[in-house]
Order: sequence, then structure tokens, then C-alpha cells
Amino acid sequence: MMTAMLPQDNPILRPVSWHRPMLCARDICKSFGANQVLTNVSLDVERGEVVCIIGPSGSGKSTFLRCLNFLEMPDSGGVWLDGERFGCRETNGVLWELPAPDFARQRAAMSMVFQRFNLFPHLSALENVALALRHVLHIPKAQARENAMAVLASVGMDSYAHRRPTQMSGGQQQRVAIARAVAMKPKVLLFDEPTSALDPELVHEVLSVMTLLARQGMTMVVVTHEMGFAREVSHRVVFMDRGCIVEEGPSAQVINTPTHARTRAFLSKIK
Ligand code: ADP
Ligand code: MG
Repeated sequence: MMTAMLPQDNPILRPVSWHRPMLCARDICKSFGANQVLTNVSLDVERGEVVCIIGPSGSGKSTFLRCLNFLEMPDSGGVWLDGERFGCRETNGVLWELPAPDFARQRAAMSMVFQRFNLFPHLSALENVALALRHVLHIPKAQARENAMAVLASVGMDSYAHRRPTQMSGGQQQRVAIARAVAMKPKVLLFDEPTSALDPELVHEVLSVMTLLARQGMTMVVVTHEMGFAREVSHRVVFMDRGCIVEEGPSAQVINTPTHARTRAFLSKIK
């Protein structure tokens, strides 16, 4: 006769950990030809946490961000989003590619905001935001437009809903791009230098929107050189150099009292 097993006695039922980060990247490696760009980069991001990634140009920050949502395929390593393996399904130790619709849905849960906005030039702000709602989340047209309008309003862009990208400033375009990412109700938002293509006077309006999202509890990974944002808004700063994480810790600690010489050298150049 079988005796009843408590969950903790059964290795199959036993959870790996009670604690589950929202985003977990493990040992990501990536090379382009002979150029090894990422070497065993691992990062956990908690629910509601804002992590800033800083580091010199060419250190692999963008590649790492792109490997998180498989815009770039990592050579090895894995990504888990809210406990679910990203981009693949694991069966009996074998990894299988996800069917395209499942992958699209997963990727929508980790939207990316780019340096150069990447809005569709022939579509209005509203259509840019509504497009993925219709085609990826299969929300009916009228509902998609209604949702899109609400998200545009949340970034102060509802009065520009019918303008095309060329009829907006860079800061306004970036706010629309953020609205487009937020509309997908992502679990994690990735930002790749979202303000570095903007005229200095437009940086503030984009950082304000990002600060608001952070305050609302959005989980965010932000590659940025905006040290004010990193210090005041993010919970943790990660310093990357030559494809590795050199140092990480609470924002104020890494920015004010970095322990690694390479971090100090980098910060002294940009501060
Ligand atoms: P960062 O964002 O920190 O400036 P990147 O991730 O853009 O750094 O680039 C890291 C390195 O990877 C650089 O040497 C760059 O030339 C190289 N790299 C990035 N993307 C590609 C690509 N698609 N093909 C070849 N090399 C690339
Ligand atoms: Mg970059």
C-alpha cells in the first residue's frame, strides 16, 4: 500500500524554490563570428524591480537585452519569464522550439523600447499602439483602439493620437513607443537607451513616463547613461564591461561607491 507523501518528501512535487524572480537569465553566451560578445551573463530581476544596465559602448548591453527576448538568439544559456522557459519548451530534458503563436505571445510579455522609437511611419500614433493588440493579442479592432487610446492618455499623448510619427517630436514619438509596449500588458519592459537619440530638452518627458511606470510597479530593465534616473528611480545598477557583469548592487552604492576599478573609471568619464 502506498503511504501518503508530504510534498516536501516527494522530489517531483518539491518546488525548486519558493522564490520566483520575474525574469531570470542564466549563463547567456553570444558570439558574432570570432567576437565573443557575452560570456556567461546571468541576471535575476524581481517583480516590480527596476534594474539599470550601464557600461561602455560595445560592452554588450544591447546584445544582452536582445538575448533576453530572443531578438538575438543566445548561443547558450536560458531565459525564464515569470517561471516559464522563454522561447522553448523543455520536455524530458530536450528543448523544443515554441510554436510561432506561443512565441509571439511570450515575446509580447517582454516588450522592448528602442533608442530610435521604431514606430511605423505610415501609421498614426493610435494605429501604432493598436496594431500589435489586434495582430498579436487578437483583440477586436474597436476594443484595440479603445485600449490604445487609454494607454496613450496615460503617457499624455491622447491629443496626438491621430498624428503620424513625422508630425511629432522625438520625445513624443518615444512616449508613443512606450505606450505601444505598455499596451501589451507586458510582464517586463526592456529599454535600450530610450533617451539617447533625443535632444536634451526632450529627455525629461520620457524619463518622467518611465518613472511613472516604475512607481506603478512595472518590472523594468533599462540600458541607460542617465545616472540621475539610475540613482533615483532604479533599485539596482548592473555594470557591464567586455561582455561580463563586473559589478552590481543597490543603485546608490554602485554609483557613489563602486568597488571595481573598471566601474570607477567608467563612472568618472560620464558623471
Ligand atoms: P553596447 O550596447 O554595450 O554598446 P552591443 O551589444 O551593441 O554593445 O555590441 C557589443 C559587441 O557586439 C560590439 O563589438 C558589436 O560590434 C558587436 N555586435 C553587436 N551586434 C552585432 C551583430 N548583429 N553582428 C555582429 N556584431 C555585432
Ligand atoms: Mg547599445
